[in-house]
Amino acid sequence: MTASLGLYGLGVMGSALALNILEKGFPLHVANRTAAKVPPFLEVAGPLAAKATGHDGLAAMAAAMTPPRAIILMVDAGPAVDAAIEALLPHLEAGDTIVDCGNADFHDTRRRSAEIEARGLTYLGVGVSGGEEGARHGPAIMAGGRPEAWAHLAPVFEAIAATYEGQPCAALMGPDGAGHFVKTVHNGIEYADMQLIAEVYGLLRHGQDKSPAEIGALFGRWDGGRLKSYLVEITAAVLSAVDPATGLPVVDVILDQAGQKGTGRWTVVEALALGQSASTIEAAVGARGWSAEKTTREVGERILGTERKPVELSEAELEGALLAGRIVAYAQGFRILQAASESYGWALDQARVAETWRAGCIIRSALLGDIAAAFRGEMPEGQLILAPAFAADLRASLPSLRRVVAAAALGGHPVPALSAALAFADTFAQGRGTTDLVQGQRDYFGRHGFVRLDTGAVHQHGPWADAP
Ligand code: NAP
Repeated sequence: MTASLGLYGLGVMGSALALNILEKGFPLHVANRTAAKVPPFLEVAGPLAAKATGHDGLAAMAAAMTPPRAIILMVDAGPAVDAAIEALLPHLEAGDTIVDCGNADFHDTRRRSAEIEARGLTYLGVGVSGGEEGARHGPAIMAGGRPEAWAHLAPVFEAIAATYEGQPCAALMGPDGAGHFVKTVHNGIEYADMQLIAEVYGLLRHGQDKSPAEIGALFGRWDGGRLKSYLVEITAAVLSAVDPATGLPVVDVILDQAGQKGTGRWTVVEALALGQSASTIEAAVGARGWSAEKTTREVGERILGTERKPVELSEAELEGALLAGRIVAYAQGFRILQAASESYGWALDQARVAETWRAGCIIRSALLGDIAAAFRGEMPEGQLILAPAFAADLRASLPSLRRVVAAAALGGHPVPALSAALAFADTFAQGRGTTDLVQGQRDYFGRHGFVRLDTGAVHQHGPWADAP
């Protein structure tokens, strides 16, 4: 790498990423809005600080760097990125690169990319997944930008990324906003997977009266099979943990209101804008929203008082339901990627996306290698659930998902993501659905016409007796 490298933003992610870069032997300039945070960072870096140079601010850092410069921004997504770019631009020159490694909205990345490249600079929008631990020791990295800009910085990103069987989980996904879009959809799938897991936990806990430790042990066993994944692994760890202050399971001292920062919602919004429905992801985002209405739920419990009843379900059925739900969540996520790729002309390599997610990121799971293989093999209609390996998985696990959703419904246990997954799978398992009636209704009140099955032609208006 010939460029001199700088990193602005020494928060949780920025500090971890900076230490990772230094550890891999790359000299690094660092700065932070609150300049007082730079010396403590250098102290924490210890011997790694030998290759680091701290600065009072962005301008000082840019001035001290030898062109061509590459400056990584790891600040809050949104206005902070625009502010940093504005502050940087007067100090940069043609050939320099700005790299936004935060969780940017891909629309912002497309805009910034166009504006900055028009000035002769280059811009990379890079999604980084894996939280603090990933950033420090090996995240999954999803880049968007021009190939020559990526080629220039790839040695750094490939060195700091997680590896899977020796292959770095870092890749250029496509131009401008492609990397941030892939990261957004990654997070959307993450939301769905977490919700599916929580619903299965709920059935075991409230429908079968199992203790968190027992359920944790079960998730631990599942992590040895087809459900093997980071999220199942940490679920086992969370459920097994005990609160030192009370001696209770930690999960029992946590308020049941889930936070969210926006990437799940963005995934759903973009899915709808692209004519897709990511129903499992929408269910997960919605469930977090409902969870925030704690008081309403408590009042609702008094007024509506639905009693949760025991559910008779085997561990194998719950495992199968979770597997089926996870496959549908992935399928919906990849379908959005496909739609965005077509809409924005990104030519996304879905197999490469799956490979990049095999290590370092939050949704890493045993399924991703098979997903990559599926995208390189036969995939009817470009639909993951119809690829032979996943069609076989679903044929085997759908009966479990159906029994689990039915038992949950009868027992009064809300399972929005599992239900959404079942509805999706059932819809795509039936060649003829019920939107013939919807078309009839549309034609009745709005003269929209409908296509006749017998002739294939558009029929302008039906024989409705009183229709307008
Ligand atoms: P953080 O610990 O809160 O740090 C935020 C950083 O942004 C600090 O360096 C802060 O500077 C800087 N900042 C905030 N507003 C600024 C402004 N207007 N101008 C200049 N700098 C500003 O956040 P983080 O967790 O590291 O997240 C950073 C980015 O990584 C975000 O885009 C986040 O979505 C993304 N991300 C986070 C995770 C995660 O697990 N945490 C995972 C993947 C991606 P001061 O020190 O001066 O406040």
